[in-house]
Amino acid sequence: MAAIFNPFQMAQQQFDRVADMLQLDESVREYLRWPQKEFHFRIPVRMDNGSVRLFQGFRIQHNNARGPYKGGVRFHPSETVDGIRALATWMTWKCAVADIPLGGAKGGVVVDPAALSNGEKERLVRGWVQQMRKNIGPRQDVPAPDVGTNAQMMAWMMDEFSLLNGEYTPGVITGKPVGGGGSLGRTEATGYGVVYTTREAMRHLGIDGSKTRAAIQGFGNVAQYAAVAYKQILGGEVLCVSYWDYNDKRAYTISKERDFDPAFLLSITDQYGSVNKQKAQSAGYVFEDGGAWLSKDADVLIPAAMEGQIDAVNAKTISSRVKIIAEGANGPTTTEADEIIKARGIFLIPDFLCNSGGVTVSYLESVQNDMNYYWTKDEVLQKEDQILTEAFRTVLEVSLNEKVDLRDGAYMVAISRVIKAMQLRGWI
Ligand code: GLU
Repeated sequence: MAAIFNPFQMAQQQFDRVADMLQLDESVREYLRWPQKEFHFRIPVRMDNGSVRLFQGFRIQHNNARGPYKGGVRFHPSETVDGIRALATWMTWKCAVADIPLGGAKGGVVVDPAALSNGEKERLVRGWVQQMRKNIGPRQDVPAPDVGTNAQMMAWMMDEFSLLNGEYTPGVITGKPVGGGGSLGRTEATGYGVVYTTREAMRHLGIDGSKTRAAIQGFGNVAQYAAVAYKQILGGEVLCVSYWDYNDKRAYTISKERDFDPAFLLSITDQYGSVNKQKAQSAGYVFEDGGAWLSKDADVLIPAAMEGQIDAVNAKTISSRVKIIAEGANGPTTTEADEIIKARGIFLIPDFLCNSGGVTVSYLESVQNDMNYYWTKDEVLQKEDQILTEAFRTVLEVSLNEKVDLRDGAYMVAISRVIKAMQLRGWI
């Protein structure tokens, strides 16, 4: 029987590998293998029918050597402590590899947000802030959106914190709506960043992006804008996307041989990421099994959904045409699948480099909150591009010099930066 996938075990395995290569001291390893602090709590919420329900909530703070803890809050029915621990750890490496002055954390609530009314959602996120109010703040820990949470929820969280704090504090949360302290470009940032790093990989490999086709897993915030940017920035084609259908409780892959239009699909997708099947079918889109995206004849694969999606079994079905895998999701490739992909010579852009555009623009959002002056969308996206391009080139150089793949190279860069900050602060 296959072992149950545990994202935290995978995050620790990835770290241990590079810790060995860097010959890290035992105490430094112990420090970085585990989160610094964990908060586990239950949030009481008055439901619309008058009853009170308790929801399991978490905030896990992995490391703050380089700056305040940073990372999203995920609402998902099957969220686990180890899932949040892994995501918190990856946030530390993500901020370090992008070289933004922030640490790593992640939060979560075990809940299906699609099953809540707007009022219940608002009371739940306000309850989350009430539990964490002493331990979040612009200089302590700055949450943001992730799977199942959105800009409106960030606005409620910011409001609750400001009320409790007695002053308007926009910098406590990022990913807020534009006009509510948010930054232009934040919604698009992660998906665009995936394409910026893919563009750099293509430059390195000598591939003309306009002649390529991408297969994308997911159709949430990351995948939607990665699909749009793939056409807009690279001039390439999108072959398919997959999405989780809330009504049918299953995933579909939607494809179209010619003129696949991500902007059209976006216009018929609801707030939970479910596509209107009827409208898509009448526009010529074909619906297949959710897993079909992985074996499509594409040049680029963009897993942009959840952890552990490419495993030892399905990795064998990847088409021989695939040259690049751009990890838009956090932890989409298991350790065993990583080895298969490496052996096949596919160039993989690791998650915490590839999807670091989101937190990068979160950082730019908090900078704008601090100075109370807001940049144009072009200014924001240009800064994002610059930061990600620099990060990609640094990682590439290290991986070429050290003769390791890009994932190990990214770990080397990130771990070294975090250790340097810990040394400078006298922690180790
Ligand atoms: N949840 C996003 C991530 O996994 C963004 C985090 C942030 O902006 O703080 O990178």
